[in-house]
Amino acid sequence: MKLNLDIQPLITWFPNYSKPGLIAGPCSAESEEQMLETAKSIAALYPKAVFRAGIWKPRTRPNTFEGIGDIGLEWMKLVKQQTGLLTATEVATADHVEKCLKAGIDILWIGARTTVNPFSVQAIADALKGVDIPVFVKNPMYPDFQLWAGALERVNNAGIKKIVAIHRGFHSYDNGPFRNSPKWELAIELKSICPELPIFCDPSHIGGNPELIPYLSQKAMDMDMDGLMIETHRNPSVALSDAKQQITPFQLKEIISDLQIRSSSVENIELQSKLDELRCVIQKLDNELLELLAKRMAVSTQIGEYKRDNNVTILQVAHWKKLIEQSLINAHSLDLPKDFIKGLYQLIHDESIRRQTDVMNKVEKK
Ligand code: PEP
Ligand code: MN
Repeated sequence: MKLNLDIQPLITWFPNYSKPGLIAGPCSAESEEQMLETAKSIAALYPKAVFRAGIWKPRTRPNTFEGIGDIGLEWMKLVKQQTGLLTATEVATADHVEKCLKAGIDILWIGARTTVNPFSVQAIADALKGVDIPVFVKNPMYPDFQLWAGALERVNNAGIKKIVAIHRGFHSYDNGPFRNSPKWELAIELKSICPELPIFCDPSHIGGNPELIPYLSQKAMDMDMDGLMIETHRNPSVALSDAKQQITPFQLKEIISDLQIRSSSVENIELQSKLDELRCVIQKLDNELLELLAKRMAVSTQIGEYKRDNNVTILQVAHWKKLIEQSLINAHSLDLPKDFIKGLYQLIHDESIRRQTDVMNKVEKK
């Protein structure tokens, strides 16, 4: 798959960009005092940060706090005047775009609930035609890579070149310890098909919990992401939205100063040759893995033929349960994590079933 975007590098427009670019501020604008107090604390620590606050909040359920509305834009202006921080907010409609442009908001972002809807994204893109403003595009709620890529394309096709993807995690039925499952592989996929596209991570919405933010932020840096969006509130416990995941400006300072920023290229020749050597070993092992998989699938096909000839169903749950249980015991003794092996076996099993279904269908056509 290809993703050809015409992108202006972050370094040319993000305030004094150095890694990590930082967007910090409350989930929602709540009051003039809350905005100014939070923004002043952030500015004192990170004058090059961008201040974020949601003005219109697309909550999943109605009758919760749905944002302060247009008055929040006036508070954003005050933040900018009094702290010098650039300001960013979420837009979900063409009307929001128009109001933000009028109010002098510096950066817009499209939220996860909007990225899922190409009609809404196109309406926003149309409202952005002829405007030079940075737009950040959050990943969609669900792990549908095409929707994320499509939203980035729609915004780019409208002429926006200052464009960034935000990785905020995905709703899935098995979120583990996270509010939204990170599924780093989708961000990696985006980076591999469009290396020039900057990616920020939003550890607040992935983690849903302040305790996970340091780990997720470090991981984002180690995935060579370019920046972080972290929800920061002067007093998280009384926040009107996402109270459980916001941190104080002081916590923000601790997290950012503890981050290890590692180099994304290897300049040391000795290190490079050691890495090359180990990568060769991996390549050889990968080839062996593929050959083994091919052999395993061939046996599966054979089993399918026996089942077909003897009129037996493809799935025999008791057998499958026994097989996976035994493999998990073996995996444990090899120090391989249970969830990883379970997921891997699920994929292998799906492919086996697909092959055996093919075998069965062949006989039906006879
Ligand atoms: C937010 O940033 O406050 C927000 C609503 O995020 P998301 O779109 O990622 O849920
Ligand atoms: Mn939020």
